[in-house]
Amino acid sequence: MCLVLPIMGVLTLDLFRRKYFEVFYFSHFLSMVFFLGVLWHAASAWYFLLPGLALWMIDHALRFTKSCQRTQLEVLIPHTAQSVGITELRFSILGHGASASASPLKFEAGQYLFLNVPSIAMLEFHPFTISSSPFDQFTSCHIKAMDKGSFTEKLYELATKANNFSSIVTSSIIVNVDGPYGMPFDINKHSHVLLLGGGIGITPLHSILRTILLLRDSNQLGEACVLQKVTLMWAVPNPELTSLFEHTFAKIREAGKGKSDLFLEVKVYCSAVTDAADERENGVARQHVIKGRPPIQAAIDELQTCTMPLVFVCGPPTMVDQAKECATKASVPFHSETFLL
Ligand SMILES: Cc1cc2nc3c(=O)[nH]c(=O)nc-3n(C[C@H](O)[C@H](O)[C@H](O)COP(=O)(O)OP(=O)(O)OC[C@H]3O[C@@H](n4cnc5c(N)ncnc54)[C@H](O)[C@@H]3O)c2cc1C
Repeated sequence: MCLVLPIMGVLTLDLFRRKYFEVFYFSHFLSMVFFLGVLWHAASAWYFLLPGLALWMIDHALRFTKSCQRTQLEVLIPHTAQSVGITELRFSILGHGASASASPLKFEAGQYLFLNVPSIAMLEFHPFTISSSPFDQFTSCHIKAMDKGSFTEKLYELATKANNFSSIVTSSIIVNVDGPYGMPFDINKHSHVLLLGGGIGITPLHSILRTILLLRDSNQLGEACVLQKVTLMWAVPNPELTSLFEHTFAKIREAGKGKSDLFLEVKVYCSAVTDAADERENGVARQHVIKGRPPIQAAIDELQTCTMPLVFVCGPPTMVDQAKECATKASVPFHSETFLL
């Protein structure tokens, strides 16, 4: 017991948790030794331990049941944008019975799930935000490959192999999905929304923007919706990344104001955009990219006069901090999502 608690404590430190996430996670199961020790010394302690343990067990039982839902991997595409590797993964949930059909996961925009690919790592469940809209025919995640040997990098390699060698059939790769989790975005609470994203932080923002677009274009926004303007500002390390979501961005540019008064706009920023020659070389992806960084301060200040504004940020810590500072100064409601546990 004297060993278990210090071990668990030390492994929660950022230094260990970030580098050896699984060791940190599974070391917490050692707490069982602590509970058994407490019961050994004081049998009557069970009524203090029971509520916490019961909640922990219910949570794990629910997660286990959820992760047992039958899924079918539909698409596994590796996207390369200069040195960045991103895997696009699409899956469906399979119903029960022989004639059961495949359908998208039931979720709301802004939520995330835990993904397990046993052929890469039997016991690892990694969190990823759902990048598609609940109204799409499929559910997708966009996953950035991290360091060599990491789960996300192996997934990217698997996607590359599945696309290069026909011996790997995508549908034969098993994926387990546990979710959805997290607070969804409530479209009825805001009139003017600034979605601010950096790099792979685009995923929840794309899901939200695409959902609003599909609802607007099918006249399903509902009476309670007071949305007037939604602006997506996305800072990318290189312009090729915009092609990941071009199907949504093109629709927004084409439609302009659409059938209702709700105005949607997309602005992509990149400091690394060079000159016109590069733009021609790289085609469509570069056409709509603005050189430089997003004008965060000016965009937030603009929201000051709106009745129900919101700044929603998902990106690197420096971007989140800057947006938070500007929003606090301007007294504009602020929400941030972080990709760190
Ligand atoms: C709510 C949420 C949503 C996310 N959405 C996306 C997304 O849409 N797209 C995307 O590319 N990334 C997303 N991430 C980040 C993604 O989960 C990590 O990049 C991935 O788990 C890294 O694992 P790795 O082993 O490949 O990389 P590593 O280099 O081993 O780990 C990189 C970092 O990821 C964290 N991490 C590692 N394993 C886990 C785990 N099992 N559970 C939680 N965190 C872990 C660690 O803190 C570590 O510092 C999200 C994270 C969270 C918490």
